[in-house]
Amino acid sequence: MPLPQEAPLYSPAYSRLSSVDLRRKLWLFGLMNQGRIVQVLGDLANLALRWGLPIQGLVRATIFRQFCGGENLHQCTRTIEELASSSIGSIPDYSVEGQDSEQAMDRCLQTLLEGLAFAARNPHTPLFVFKVSGLVSSTALHQLAEGRPLNTVVQEQARRGRERVDTLLQKAHELQCSIMVDAEESWIQDPIDQWTMEAMSRYNIDKPIVINTLQMYRWDRLDYLKQALQLADEQGFVPAFKVVRGAYMEKERERARSMAYPDPIQPTKAATDRDFNEATQLLLQHPKAFLCLGTHNRPSCVLASVQMNDLGWAPNNPRILYAQLLGMSDRLTGELADAGYRVAKYLPYGPVKEVLPYLLRRAKENSSAAGEISREYAQLLLEQKRRRNLNAANQTNSADA
Ligand SMILES: Cc1cc2nc3c(=O)[nH]c(=O)nc-3n(C[C@H](O)[C@H](O)[C@H](O)COP(=O)(O)OP(=O)(O)OC[C@H]3O[C@@H](n4cnc5c(N)ncnc54)[C@H](O)[C@@H]3O)c2cc1C
Repeated sequence: MPLPQEAPLYSPAYSRLSSVDLRRKLWLFGLMNQGRIVQVLGDLANLALRWGLPIQGLVRATIFRQFCGGENLHQCTRTIEELASSSIGSIPDYSVEGQDSEQAMDRCLQTLLEGLAFAARNPHTPLFVFKVSGLVSSTALHQLAEGRPLNTVVQEQARRGRERVDTLLQKAHELQCSIMVDAEESWIQDPIDQWTMEAMSRYNIDKPIVINTLQMYRWDRLDYLKQALQLADEQGFVPAFKVVRGAYMEKERERARSMAYPDPIQPTKAATDRDFNEATQLLLQHPKAFLCLGTHNRPSCVLASVQMNDLGWAPNNPRILYAQLLGMSDRLTGELADAGYRVAKYLPYGPVKEVLPYLLRRAKENSSAAGEISREYAQLLLEQKRRRNLNAANQTNSADA
C-alpha cells in the first residue's frame, strides 16, 4: 500500500521518546528555530575553536548528539542497532569537511576505506557514502571543471585525487558494497560526475555498486539524467542515482550574481519540486535503475510510493531506498519503515571539532519559518501537547473514580 496522502497526526517515532529526550530535543530545536541566535552561536563556536577554548564537551552534549552517530564507527554501533530495531538502516557518512592538504586527504582515504569495510560487513548499513572534495584538492576540482589547462602542481594534485577516488570505488566493487557519491557545488561538480559515471559504467554490471547524486534545484539536471539513462542503455550498465533537491542554493545564487554568469538554480521551489518528482518517475520507470530518494519532503515520498504501487512493486523492492538525515524528519522515516519501505538514515560521524562545520550548516540550514528545523520543532511541540492532554485526562479519570 502507498503512504496515505495525509500524515497521521501523531507518530510512534516521537511517542517512543523518553520525557528527558523529548525535553532535550524541544530545547535544542527551540533554540535552532531562532535564526539570529543560530547565527551568533555558530560564529561564537567557530571563534572558540580557533582560540582553542574547550567547548567540545558542550557541542558533544547538544548538537553533536542530535545529528551525529559518534566520533568513530565503533561509537556509531549503538545508534545503528537502535535504528535497526525499528527496521531503519544506516548510511555511515564521514562528515569531516574543508581539509585540503595532500596528507589530510590521504588520511581521509584511509578512514573512508575503513568505513567502507565496516559498511560491507554490517547487515544494517545498505550503503556507504562520501564526498569527492574530501579526497581531491578544491583547486584541482575547480580548474578541471572549468576545463582550464593545469600547471604541473595542480596536474599532480588532480592525478593523486583521482587515484584516491578510484581506489575507494574499486574497493567498493571488490567488497560488492554499494557506495554513494554526494553532489557538491556546481563549479566543482563536472569532474565528480565524469569520474562517477565512468566508474558506474565499469562496476554496475549487474548491481548498483556506484551511485551518483542529482541536485534537482539545478535546471540542467533532468536533461543530464535523460542522457545518463541513454548511455546506460547503450552500454548495458545499471544506472544508479540518489535524487535530492540540493543544499547550496544561496551560495550558488550569490556566486552567479557576483560573477555575472547565469544562475544554475531553478527560478522557483515549484520548479525544483517538479523536476525532483519527474526524475524520480524516470528512474522508477526504467527497467533496471536504482533510486535513492534523499529527502525530508513527505509529498515526494508519497508520490514515489504511489508510483511504486502502480508499477506493482512491493514496498521493500531493493531498487529503491528512501533516506533522511539522522536527527531530522524522524516522523517520516518511522512512517516509511512501519509501512515496510526500505529506509535509512545518513549517519554522520567524525571528531567533534572536525564535524563542527557540518553541524553548523545543519543548524543554520532552514532555520527559517518554512525550514526543516521548524517542521521538526512543530512535531515535537505536538508530541508535548499530546502527553499533557493524556496526563490531564488521566488525572480527571482518577479524580472521577
Ligand atoms: C539522505 C540525504 C542525502 C543528501 N545528499 C545531498 C547531496 O549529496 N548533495 C546536496 O546538495 N544535498 C544533499 N542533501 C540535502 C538536500 O539537497 C536538501 O537540501 C534537503 O534535503 C532539503 O530538501 P528536501 O527535499 O528534504 O525538502 P524541501 O523542504 O521540500 O526542499 C527544500 C529545498 O528545495 C530547494 N528550494 C527551496 N527554495 C527554492 C527556490 N526558491 N527555488 C528553487 N529551489 C528551492 C532547495 O534545494 C532546498 O534545500 C541530502 C539530503 C538527504 C535527506
